[in-house]
Amino acid sequence: MNRRVWIVAAAAFGGLVAITSKRGQSPPHVPGDVEIFDPATGGPRNLPRIVMTNAEWRAKLTAQQYYVTRHGSTDSPFTGTYHLKKDAGLYVCIGCGTALFRSSEKFDSGTGWPSFSAPIDPRNVVKRVDRELMLERTEVSCARCAAHLGHVFDDGPAPSGLRYCINESALRFV
Ligand code: FE
Repeated sequence: MNRRVWIVAAAAFGGLVAITSKRGQSPPHVPGDVEIFDPATGGPRNLPRIVMTNAEWRAKLTAQQYYVTRHGSTDSPFTGTYHLKKDAGLYVCIGCGTALFRSSEKFDSGTGWPSFSAPIDPRNVVKRVDRELMLERTEVSCARCAAHLGHVFDDGPAPSGLRYCINESALRFV
């Protein structure tokens, strides 16, 4: 296929995915590289996106982790332990291990969900407007594996004023 045909095919595929995308599912996800911030080196790193079937994700994750990250489900508030956690460390993606948040940006929002004022780096997450539940929210997902993480709200602490409301089931503390 030449370049033009590829672009048309990719656009058509993207449209088809958008139309067939079900309620609560992660954004469309195609293979390719993505640049993320790597805290191990303190610099950028190009890594291949992780694309797996639902059956493969289901085998890798617990049922709750699977429904949250691959079908946009939400943990019940106050059910985990991370919302209270104050230890210094990193919160990485349960699906692919990408570093997403740091304890230095974590704050107690009182909501019962782990809350952060910012991601570790804007490149490590993807934001998308989500119009489910009749209201407009901004969904946050993992840049590398497209795991649904949670939502961003504009009632967070200064200076960002943002509150990343994240499901514990999408995270692993390291
Ligand atoms: Fe991930």
